[in-house]
Amino acid sequence: MQCTKCRKRAVIFRRYEGRALCRKHFFDSVDRTVRKTIRMEKQIPRGSHVAVGIYGDGDSALLLYLLCNLSKKRDDLKISAIVVDEGIKRYSKEVIRSAKKISGQAEVALYTVSYRDMFAMTLDEIMRKSKGEDLDRCAVCQSLRFVALGKKACGIGADRVALPVNMDDEVQAIISDYFCDGDDAGAITGQFTKKMPVIQMIKPLSRVLAGEAALYAKLKGLDAVPAECPYTRVSVRWKIKEVMDKLDKRHPGMKFNVVRANARFQKG
Ligand SMILES: [Zn+2]
Repeated sequence: MQCTKCRKRAVIFRRYEGRALCRKHFFDSVDRTVRKTIRMEKQIPRGSHVAVGIYGDGDSALLLYLLCNLSKKRDDLKISAIVVDEGIKRYSKEVIRSAKKISGQAEVALYTVSYRDMFAMTLDEIMRKSKGEDLDRCAVCQSLRFVALGKKACGIGADRVALPVNMDDEVQAIISDYFCDGDDAGAITGQFTKKMPVIQMIKPLSRVLAGEAALYAKLKGLDAVPAECPYTRVSVRWKIKEVMDKLDKRHPGMKFNVVRANARFQKG
């Protein structure tokens, strides 16, 4: 398969736009998408100190890599990294190990914040306490993670938090908002989220498909420990992911449609 633009060997065929791209043109295209997202949403104004949330995965490594590249061109920009220790048995240790590797590779200072220090409980303990309730653990954990990241970011003098959220994550969040009652998770997290500081959360990768983010990270040799949270596959989001992946296979471009439709609804 040849690149539609330059005839060199292609590394990807994008069914949703019917073209193949070589390594260089694939990187260029993703870089452009990310730059456009940052510019259009005015995510990083001059003089920003961005704390990048490191979840230990390939997307975190990619986000840190791209923002560090941006900071090389913009000396007004400061980049730090924060990893959250949720206190999930075995998994959290893996995430921290991976975060150290990712931030070391990018030569960026890494800060750690734990649920135990911030909320006096680990996620495992919080979930055990609310035993019997059919909760979406990921929704609970996500609310807590935002508070932890926000507070830590304020503590180190950052003025925004960059989240490693790709377009598939965005689609899952949009659809799960329609299906799930956020009050269930809110009942547990409310006491903690009250303490949420006002800090802007930005998602520079939110227009990059999960598969393309993974391919970019792999081709650049951005290492991350492939750990998976034990709660992931029992979450509502996982079920939505499975359905969306099936639909998108038969109807390429469907994920883009969900994000676009949601943006239209929000504008009213
Ligand atoms: Zn090419």
